[in-house]
Amino acid sequence: MSNKKIPFNKPYLSGDELNYINDAVSTGKISGNGKYSQLCQEFFREKYGFNSCLLTTSCTDALEMAAILIDIKPGDEVIMPSYTFVSTANPFILRGAKIVFVDSRIDHPGLDENKIEELITEKTKAIVPVHYAGSACNMDKIMELSAKYNLWVVEDAAQAVDSFYIDSNGVQRALGSIGHLSAFSFHETKNIISGEGGMLVINEKKLKARAEIIWEKGTNRSAFFRGEIDKYGWVDIGSSFLPSDIIAAFLYAQLESIPKIQSKRKEIWEIYYSRLSQGIANKLLKLQVVPKYSTANYHMFYIVCPDLEFRNNLTNYLSENNIHSVFHYQSLHNSQYYMHNSNGIKLENSDNYSDCLLRLPMFFELTNQEVEKISNCINSFCDNFIVKNNII
Ligand SMILES: *Cc1c(COP(=O)(O)O)cnc(C)c1O
Repeated sequence: MSNKKIPFNKPYLSGDELNYINDAVSTGKISGNGKYSQLCQEFFREKYGFNSCLLTTSCTDALEMAAILIDIKPGDEVIMPSYTFVSTANPFILRGAKIVFVDSRIDHPGLDENKIEELITEKTKAIVPVHYAGSACNMDKIMELSAKYNLWVVEDAAQAVDSFYIDSNGVQRALGSIGHLSAFSFHETKNIISGEGGMLVINEKKLKARAEIIWEKGTNRSAFFRGEIDKYGWVDIGSSFLPSDIIAAFLYAQLESIPKIQSKRKEIWEIYYSRLSQGIANKLLKLQVVPKYSTANYHMFYIVCPDLEFRNNLTNYLSENNIHSVFHYQSLHNSQYYMHNSNGIKLENSDNYSDCLLRLPMFFELTNQEVEKISNCINSFCDNFIVKNNII
């Protein structure tokens, strides 16, 4: 076994990225909303049943568009998990909202749908479920609350490309197709990438026209280019949220490779799962849980350690064996920026994931032998731990 360093992530190229970029450049139109942007948007509508899609320069930007679209105003409250990336919260903070954090579930880091209702007040405007690791939140329950209290639902589907919610009748719906709005990321750490990149999905038809305007700096330029109006001008607030067609060309090459990328990631995921669930690691660690109402998209493979000290020691042990493992979010309610707004709330599961969750290397070019090596290392570490601490 070679002792080559195993990184945590390595961006995968399908091979057609540069060809499509070349083609985009040769058309002479490389600003936003060109041929490849439209191909990508069409691809997502067809494949996943999204109502309307607009590529953006990041998922963060897509969420900023969402916050503008649902008219978030100072004092509005937005409910979201604390165990998430800052970009779930920042777009709403920028519009003056107050973030109300809900705890994660005990069995996976998605928000606990049973703890949302008690947080809803007169001022609540939206719920933002985050499909962590590509595993669905309980969308039926969330949409029920949305209907009962008249709240917007914005899915943070940054990690959720090609994953599905399974309802109680067994019917599957793509994540990102259920909320009124959804945001995806194509950052180089996700399954499908364009370096930086994202997309806003608009499922609520009455938001569609305004979404295009906000996307195009507050102008009705998109309608103008379709020949629907005879001149365009400034009609609303907005910004420059659309990416260059060069980025879309790169992304389109990735979209064509979704089946190939996903099947390789699935293979890696399944080796991890079988080696760790059948190994001694299973006595000490909790393995990733995919809820029964979700498919898996193999965005990541994570384990949950018994405590912070265990995680630090395991991370160091893996690093001594040239394996780069990475912890994840620090709960936002304890962050330096926002803790003074959180009134000392305790979110036990969220904090537990902050201390104990560890992500293992997961990328297309990871070989089966490397996955075996990583799994063996984790099993050995657990074996040593059991012997040293006299645990039967
Ligand atoms: C990656 C990620 C984002 C941010 O995506 P960008 O495209 O980098 O802006 C937001 N939320 C979650 C849950 C993410 O994983």
